[in-house]
Amino acid sequence: MNFCYIDSLTGILNTAGFMNQGTALCEENRQADYTGLFLNIKGFRYINQRFGFTNGDEAMRKYAHRIQKLLLPDELFARLGCDNYALLLQKNRVDALLDSLLSVRVHVQLEDFVNTFDLSSRAGLYEIRPEDTMNDIMNRITVAGLLAKSSPHHNTIWFREAMMERYIHDKEIADSFISAIENNEFSVYYQPKVSLDEQTLCGCEALARWDRISEVIFPSEFVPILEQEGTICVLDFYVLEAVCRDIRNWLDMGIEPVRISTNFSKIHLHNKNLAIDILRVLDRYQIDTKYIEIELTETCGYEDFESLSEFVDTMKEHGVHTSIDDFGTGYSSLNLLKDLNIDTIKLDKSFLNQNPNTKKKHANEIVIKTIINMAQDLDMQVICEGVETVEQAKLLQTLHCPAVQGFLFDGPLSHDEFEKRLKTERVYHKI
Ligand code: C2E
Ligand code: MG
Ligand code: MG
Repeated sequence: MNFCYIDSLTGILNTAGFMNQGTALCEENRQADYTGLFLNIKGFRYINQRFGFTNGDEAMRKYAHRIQKLLLPDELFARLGCDNYALLLQKNRVDALLDSLLSVRVHVQLEDFVNTFDLSSRAGLYEIRPEDTMNDIMNRITVAGLLAKSSPHHNTIWFREAMMERYIHDKEIADSFISAIENNEFSVYYQPKVSLDEQTLCGCEALARWDRISEVIFPSEFVPILEQEGTICVLDFYVLEAVCRDIRNWLDMGIEPVRISTNFSKIHLHNKNLAIDILRVLDRYQIDTKYIEIELTETCGYEDFESLSEFVDTMKEHGVHTSIDDFGTGYSSLNLLKDLNIDTIKLDKSFLNQNPNTKKKHANEIVIKTIINMAQDLDMQVICEGVETVEQAKLLQTLHCPAVQGFLFDGPLSHDEFEKRLKTERVYHKI
């Protein structure tokens, strides 16, 4: 046995071994008899965190052995690293085996009892063509596997050629991010928030834009990719720093700024020092905490709740406002309202779109009104996002929504355009 081809933890093939044995199949022109699979175990990180690495390793070994037992001698199975595995299965066996591959139960002897781990996985699958090399196969199962890994809806994803283009595009964005930060390719745009009573500027949101050589890239394109890479944290601090620098300059110029909110990805909640890190930036620019608000998206899972709550409390102690962004699109909205010391909820723009097929007339109004009343009883502010028409603004006014943000008043403005608003154009005459 060539030990260079064996994964030392599980004793099955490693990547080199998989490529080597797969290449042998390709040389015999047998590759199209197989389907390629990429498997990723869900949440394995938590097993390591909760039970320690020794028990995690044992669970991993048992998982690999359980799967190996399901396979025929000419099928290939390898550990690619961490909790990622690759397989070449005979084509006609995929349907019968897939469910067993996706959920594997193992038992691990802990100190004083045996624990059962149900390891479920996501899979990327690829129907191998006769002309494919092992590189083609590996690239395609990986692309489908990574998509399955990040998909909230699908546990299994079959590779399609269009995914390759998407993958290359996403990889290019991820790979060029750090140099883009170093080259100052990111700029901050400011979208005004408007108080509905007096139609005056009452705050704004900082939104990142990426000016690449010949195009501007919008956050909807790069934020999900950077979130997956974890590099969104670099961007969020970059934006906060740019905002603090601008506020400092405006104050030095004698221009009174408004409170500016910046978006912080939920990924930051893993950072125990998040609050301190944010306060340090404010301190460096000598910015009063009343000028800054931190927006967090609502889609934080339950496991993040405690860190979210702690973060919000620390921010409040120091006078930094926090808000829940896109409220109403995620989970546990009401629990968030009940248990979090948050200052503002930002109603998602989807609340403004009346479903044309609805039988419930005025349903949107009733929901918006109820949320506004409840938030106010709980001492929270409400702002409605995505206001595009006079009708929407008037409706919100009658529902006593205090503030809005949306294209009707202003889209995201460049630094200079926003500075002009701050200096001379704080009143709107739209409704
Ligand atoms: P968001 O925080 O909910 O920001 C509001 C988004 O809605 C912005 O899109 C804004 O341009 C858009 N918008 C504002 N008014 C209207 C309107 O009247 N109609 C419609 N249809 N859209 C409106 P943008 O700038 O493309 O940002 C999209 C999302 O990307 C943001 O949603 C935010 O979640 C995220 N994002 C932006 N910058 C950053 C950042 O620096 N860090 C992080 N973590 N996320 C960011
Ligand atoms: Mg936001
Ligand atoms: Mg939003």
